[in-house]
Amino acid sequence: MNHKGSPMKSIPSILSIPEKLNSFFQRVIKFRLPVERRFSVRDILLALGALLLTLLLRIISLPAAIQTVLSVFLLLFALIPVFLQAFRLIRKRRFPVEEATVFLSALIAFAVGEHTAAILIPALSVILWQVEGYSLLHVEAAPNAIPDAEETIRNHVMAADEEKSTERRTLAFASAAFYALFLLVGIIMMFLALFHLQNAAEWIRRGLILLMLSLPSAILFSLMLTHFGAVFSSGKTGAVFRNDQVPEDFSHCRIFAFGKTGTVTDGRFQISEIVPVGVSEEDLLRIAAVAECKSDHPIALAIKSAAGLKEGAVPSGVMDVQEIPGKGVSTFFSGRQIYVGNASLLEDHNIWYQVPSKTGTAIHVAVDSTYRGYFLISDTLRENAFEALEELRAQGASCLAMLTGDVQSVSRAVAASLNFDMVKAHLTPAEKASAISYLRSSQSDRERIAAVGDGSHDEAMFEAADISVCMEQKPSGIADLSICSDDILTIPRVYRICRETERIMLASAVGVAGVKLMLCFLGLFHVIPISLVAVFDSVFSIAAVIYSLTCLTLENRGMHG
Ligand code: ADP
Ligand code: MG
Repeated sequence: MNHKGSPMKSIPSILSIPEKLNSFFQRVIKFRLPVERRFSVRDILLALGALLLTLLLRIISLPAAIQTVLSVFLLLFALIPVFLQAFRLIRKRRFPVEEATVFLSALIAFAVGEHTAAILIPALSVILWQVEGYSLLHVEAAPNAIPDAEETIRNHVMAADEEKSTERRTLAFASAAFYALFLLVGIIMMFLALFHLQNAAEWIRRGLILLMLSLPSAILFSLMLTHFGAVFSSGKTGAVFRNDQVPEDFSHCRIFAFGKTGTVTDGRFQISEIVPVGVSEEDLLRIAAVAECKSDHPIALAIKSAAGLKEGAVPSGVMDVQEIPGKGVSTFFSGRQIYVGNASLLEDHNIWYQVPSKTGTAIHVAVDSTYRGYFLISDTLRENAFEALEELRAQGASCLAMLTGDVQSVSRAVAASLNFDMVKAHLTPAEKASAISYLRSSQSDRERIAAVGDGSHDEAMFEAADISVCMEQKPSGIADLSICSDDILTIPRVYRICRETERIMLASAVGVAGVKLMLCFLGLFHVIPISLVAVFDSVFSIAAVIYSLTCLTLENRGMHG
């Protein structure tokens, strides 16, 4: 099954609610993210002032009448920032849902004599909103932390559209449904008070608790912060995601299939031996370089540089150049057919070739069906390749495979030195794709498979995997994740960021929802007073937002190895 083609566009069907309700919730989710909240010292001072004076009022004993009058003043005091924010929203033609809920809860609490709770509800909400506004400032500032030199990366990171990933959309939907449900049940309970006049206060109190706990902005903010956290922290390490689904899917990858050339090796080939047959060494090099003139495969670049042929130069007389992925090139030059590539290329054309006596990657050359000799070439492992693979394992990767077009002997040696779990050599690009499908058959539904390559002839392998990772200089858009850094450790870094983000997102969303449910029961069964429900709800919400904020600087945390 391919997860790639099916990003969930609508709300999960498991909940199977009618389309209309569905689109209503979508709108609620959208317009409830209060992105225009700004940090303001005045608002927070007003809220804190109201909060402290309320506590003071509870400690000192004053005549009841004076207590009430002072409480009215403090309530108005605490409501000022709520009003101001509601007006700001209305001016922007947005209905202040959250502010209205807070306002209503405060008034009802006051009406049923819960004076302390009445002041705490708006005061604590304002503090929570300010923390949320503060977190938005951090989101806005985050791209600036990406160094100037990385302009391209920054532009790509900035372009990250805010299309929510599957899990985020599900959680955002769940919290909007949570909000709607609590609000509705809360209002129904208060309505019931009309029919239970002798027990009216209790029903109003119950409704009030639900109303107070309905606000899910902390969850929505956590979703947003963790999403931007993954994008920005990764951007700072030089990694760019193609879309918003990628960080989530990458965090679910357990199987990693790596290419060899240019991926775990640095792709800078050295010619270690030239074995000409019936021509001079110089001629062999020159013929091969001419045939490779249009290829930018790392092997082609090495041959051209050894022959002194400029990159991109096409000698006159070169006619039909064909790259045969995973095998080599075929070029028509001055009326002669030249083949440069591995043994299987020559076998395909029934050309006899010499089997090298030493191990190494041999690149054979044939002119008009006549064998002309071979080069032995080798490149070196990327710095930190071993550490990068071990780190992936430490982060939770269960299988590391190497899929390469190179010969068995070289591939096995490289795979052994890097401690790969399995290696398949001699693969054409199409066979690499089949190998990925084979690996997929051993994985569970939720686990994803990542293909890591340098981008040359990797399209088929990238297509077959759930997440494609390309080591490249600039984000080209061919892969889901572009690693624009020479440091292969960037891969485990980004993997860790994605996994951590996922963990923080779930922990804060589930945590806030769990605390709200628990407080709901504690409040309904009179275990704790309403004012404490308000305090705990706000404290946990603020903690969740601050916890999610840590996602914006995940790149700084150390790794295992
Ligand atoms: P990898 O799977 O390690 O990234 P490739 O699929 O790019 O390697 O190439 C596999 C093999 O195909 C190389 O080891 C080489 O023998 C041959 N080959 C591919 N492209 C070329 C080329 N342009 N010139 C010569 N040989 C090539
Ligand atoms: Mg390759």
